[in-house]
Amino acid sequence: MSNVICVDGPAASGKSTVSKLVAKRTGYLYVDSGALYRIVTWLALEAEIDTSSSEAVAEFVRRVRVDFTTREGRVAYEVRGEEPGDRIRTPNINAHVSPVSAVPEVRALVTGWLRGMRSLGNLVVEGRDIGSVVFPESPNRFYLDADPEERARRRLKEDVAKGFADKGAVEKVKESILNRDKIDSTRKTAPLMIPEGAMRIDTTELSIDEVAEKIVSNIK
Ligand code: C5P
Repeated sequence: MSNVICVDGPAASGKSTVSKLVAKRTGYLYVDSGALYRIVTWLALEAEIDTSSSEAVAEFVRRVRVDFTTREGRVAYEVRGEEPGDRIRTPNINAHVSPVSAVPEVRALVTGWLRGMRSLGNLVVEGRDIGSVVFPESPNRFYLDADPEERARRRLKEDVAKGFADKGAVEKVKESILNRDKIDSTRKTAPLMIPEGAMRIDTTELSIDEVAEKIVSNIK
């Protein structure tokens, strides 16, 4: 069985950037579990599924097909032969992804995909329930957090760079990430939480490099 480093935390806590750097330094494959929930949401919206109906979403996920391959140090996901790219990162997907990922059938599907990826090599997996539900037996579990203000600033910077938001939208971005955190941490199945025994790192005042270093130096 391959090694897995689990990196959980709320929206815009720095998980992706840090996990990519940890993957680079350790030679492990980077796995973005949120992207899988985003892909399911994107496909559901495309198929005009009512995402507020968990029955409709549960029925729909049985038809979802994603292919996995390794590319440039990460596990890449393909839908109909293509990587979805920024199509899964729009404000519209942000608004629908938390209710979709609260549906138990969606979680079961994605959890199965993630566990299967261990056959591809050692992994750095970032998400919300990686250390608590997907790989609770891993000795390497980390939970990143940061002040909501700082998280909103970070996410806004990314959104502006992608052309999804304008610079003055910090309050709107904060509202969107806090709303997602609320749904993610209060859902019945696999809520966002600090996994028991995980190392919590507050990233508010730390650089990406410092956080990655903390993780790498604590790998068992
Ligand atoms: O990490 P990212 O912001 O891309 O995640 C998008 C959404 O996917 C989260 O807000 C959450 O609803 C869901 N998610 C999850 N469990 C994970 C990863 C993401 O429920 N392990």
